[in-house]
Amino acid sequence: MNNPWERALAQLQRAAETLSLTAALHKRLQETDRMIEVSVPVEMDSGETKVFRGYRVQHNNLCGPYKGGLRYHPQVDLDEAKALAFWMTMKNAVVDVPFGGGKGGVAVDPKTLSEKELERLTREFTRKLAPVIGAHLDVPAPDVNTNSTIMNWIADEYGLQVGERVPGVVTGKPVREGGSEGRTEATGLGGAYTLLALLPQITKKTPSELTVAVQGFGNVGSHVARFLIDWGFKVVALSDSRGGVYIPGGITDIDAIERCKEEKGKLAGCYCVGSVCDVSNREVLNGRDLSSTDILELPVDIIVPAALENAITADNASRIKAKIVLEMANGPTTLEADTILAQNGVTVIPDILANAGGVAVSYFEWLQNERHEAWNKDDVFEKLKDKMEKAANAVYTSSTSRGITLRQAAYVVALERLLEAFSKKI
Ligand code: NAD
Repeated sequence: MNNPWERALAQLQRAAETLSLTAALHKRLQETDRMIEVSVPVEMDSGETKVFRGYRVQHNNLCGPYKGGLRYHPQVDLDEAKALAFWMTMKNAVVDVPFGGGKGGVAVDPKTLSEKELERLTREFTRKLAPVIGAHLDVPAPDVNTNSTIMNWIADEYGLQVGERVPGVVTGKPVREGGSEGRTEATGLGGAYTLLALLPQITKKTPSELTVAVQGFGNVGSHVARFLIDWGFKVVALSDSRGGVYIPGGITDIDAIERCKEEKGKLAGCYCVGSVCDVSNREVLNGRDLSSTDILELPVDIIVPAALENAITADNASRIKAKIVLEMANGPTTLEADTILAQNGVTVIPDILANAGGVAVSYFEWLQNERHEAWNKDDVFEKLKDKMEKAANAVYTSSTSRGITLRQAAYVVALERLLEAFSKKI
């Protein structure tokens, strides 16, 4: 079952049975409230016009305005956006922020566009979405291949459409444009807080005794790796879509790796000794090259899928040696793989909990915009820690009291909150 939307429905079904969910809410969550598919014509630098497909799915708004990222990737389609929007409904309920679930994006490989083309695409997509988004209606955010610059173009274009700047229409903006301190790091940091909160319940080992491999070195993967290294975990492998590096002694200078990736355009070959990163250091470090899929099968304690959906499937699940999976990507594990991991005694910290730090700080950004406030980074991180610890504890308690996996428990916690919101509306 590699279709993300079918998997989302199956996950809902399992949790609904555990909880004896009312048929009315179950049926409502099996459908999306609204699906928008638009054409996005863009004048390329050559003068030629190309037309891309754009999507926004609004899954459910029982708990508040729709909220979720926009992704620019060739694989974006309606089924993917539906599943991701559903997971946002669940995630926002788990982490207890007053938002519903939305998601969308454009089927495009942004790496093939110039900056000006990317801006024209974003502005045209925003014009198409303007009637259905808004600070109290649907609030997009960054996701794969989108960032604060793109969010600011959206805020700017939306303002032009409605006649005034409305910062709360989108989160993940640059700080000087009404973004929140700490939003860039928030998803990675939130995952690291979640891991730390659950660690004593999962293993007797301390961070310095645990090795970690991170698949995906974008916004989420790079920050989770950085915080785990700072807190004493031994991060031994990193990868991006073009491969990666395995350094058994542990990676210490993540800044050097980031600079290397920026220079070379890929992680492969980034063997850093001091600030010098080169493939010639591979032997000194006793390192080896990796493919982006090999990384998940390394003999480590923790793997962190932080790239795309379906990274762990029935094909590779039984080869996974780690005993902890911290799901930072959305939907990285298929249903079949989930069963195999559970049978093999692997603890999966599920996506809707582990990566909820991004939307938690998005909520803080939205709140700051609403109240015309600007919080400092320490304050944001403190609030984020509190949110993640509360969510992790609620999920863990539900898991032990019901004798279910952390994933099932996360859905149960989410559905209990949705049920409460639903009962107030009727
Ligand atoms: P990003 O675009 O910044 O980075 C994605 C990374 O994944 C890149 O390093 C890319 O090279 C790598 N990648 C792509 N395909 C790969 C493959 N097949 N194998 C290995 N690596 C591959 O995106 P991001 O914002 O870091 O998002 C990563 C994941 O986290 C996504 O699943 C996203 O939905 C999820 N997520 C992101 C946020 C957020 O705040 N950005 C919040 C919650 C969840």
